[in-house]
Amino acid sequence: MRIGAPDQSPAGIAPAVTAFLKTPRMLIGGQSVDGEAGSFEVFDPANGQVLARVPEASEADVDRAVRAAAAAMQGPWGTMPGAARTGLMLKLADLIEEHGEELAQIETLENGKSIMMSRLIEVLSSAEYIRYMAGWATKIRGETLDVSIAIPPGTRYTAFTRKEPVGVVAAITPWNFPLNMAVWKIAPALAAGCTVVLKPAEETPLTALRLAELVREAGFPDGVVNVVTGGGAVGAALVAHPGVNKITFTGSTDTGIKIGTRAMQDVKPVTLELGGKAPMVMFDDMDLGLLGPATGIGIFLNTGQTCCAGARLFIQRGIYDEAVSVLKGIVSSLPIGPGMDPGNQINPLVSARHQAHVQAAIARGIDDGATPLLDLVAPESGYFVAPQLFEGAAPHCALMQEEVFGPVATITPFDTEDDVIAMANDVRYGLGASLWSRDINRLMRLLPRVQAGTVWINSHNIPDQNMPFGGFKQSGLGREHGSGALDNFLETKSVCVAYS
Ligand code: ADP
Repeated sequence: MRIGAPDQSPAGIAPAVTAFLKTPRMLIGGQSVDGEAGSFEVFDPANGQVLARVPEASEADVDRAVRAAAAAMQGPWGTMPGAARTGLMLKLADLIEEHGEELAQIETLENGKSIMMSRLIEVLSSAEYIRYMAGWATKIRGETLDVSIAIPPGTRYTAFTRKEPVGVVAAITPWNFPLNMAVWKIAPALAAGCTVVLKPAEETPLTALRLAELVREAGFPDGVVNVVTGGGAVGAALVAHPGVNKITFTGSTDTGIKIGTRAMQDVKPVTLELGGKAPMVMFDDMDLGLLGPATGIGIFLNTGQTCCAGARLFIQRGIYDEAVSVLKGIVSSLPIGPGMDPGNQINPLVSARHQAHVQAAIARGIDDGATPLLDLVAPESGYFVAPQLFEGAAPHCALMQEEVFGPVATITPFDTEDDVIAMANDVRYGLGASLWSRDINRLMRLLPRVQAGTVWINSHNIPDQNMPFGGFKQSGLGREHGSGALDNFLETKSVCVAYS
């Protein structure tokens, strides 16, 4: 079913969605399978009802998936030319679009997010992402190298590098952009010629399982993409499996530290895209007309469940009162409700557990002395939390330091550039940040001082496949996207040729 217009309410749940939700299965070695460890429930965050039962993988299932991925490296995939991989990936992107409405509805049902976001980001931007990465499959290249080796005397040498797929990739993804994150991992891995075992988050495994069906339909050889579902223990079994050659993870910093530590025990390459506590720094000379997108996209996109969410606003004293008043008005006007209505900009959080986490962070902020500015009411059924802005949060309180990952931001006034840079950088994270000003000299002067993998100017929270993405400090290791994305999945082999 073709995707609906982004701002159109679905007429109802598509029949293909209802059919899929009855028996979602994992994909191992080209076979659609149940989980040896049984199954678990996935909930609809809009109403707290059970949406589907999903297979729970056992350690043996994980083992079979890794073996299937390793076997596929030895099969036709291992020698397939880049252009053929491109062709399969483009087919997959087309299938994602063909089934776009179905995928968007599944995403909104399992995650709670706006159907508009599901259509635009989870589906359309995922298809574009695959197409972008598909292009790199034919552009893998090494270097020829002049070398100065002088032994034995008289022998001559030349050298070159080959880029070779690292092998079996374990991809572990979070629940905030489930289909998009799966694609961010799978697409560059496939372009590089690797095979993949994907473990999506237990809250939102359904679009990954539907993606697995489309992978089969696209004609990828068996075992090239495998999807196993379950909780953190399934992810941990995958990370520790000796057949895995590379780990790529997006999720919380705490889990990332565990995964990175385990990876180092086996000296396995690992890419980590972790948490954030992004500052949005607004100067007196900014265009106040930008406060709308700054709020809707910068802070509250995906109901604040983005790792780059502008959770800490710093506003210069000269515009402080006016900006705070405008912000309060904007946030108070954001419609709250289920994601199936595209008019709702604040949707339920992903799970009851996460709802409790965000509510606890708000309560703790008040206990720690911060002042809540809003008194909004969220619907009672479903995992809703009303948006909140705080003033007066102490620099080292939990609200300023720890990721809330919900519709919550702090606002702090500042006077000088030095003051605000010190405050902006005063967290363990360094994923995203933004500077808002009309003064190009100021912006260029401050850019090198901001500790973040991405700095947006007069905008915030907008990634692109061509823009490297990753974190400074405890926000991660390595960069995804862009021309270097495939390097995460390639080994470099130096070849040294002697001749006389
Ligand atoms: P959150 O705490 O917000 O749910 P996590 O970072 O723990 O986020 O989860 C992101 C992904 O990591 C999920 O797919 C989850 O199942 C997985 N995961 C959790 N713990 C582990 C672990 N110890 N090893 C591997 N994967 C894990």
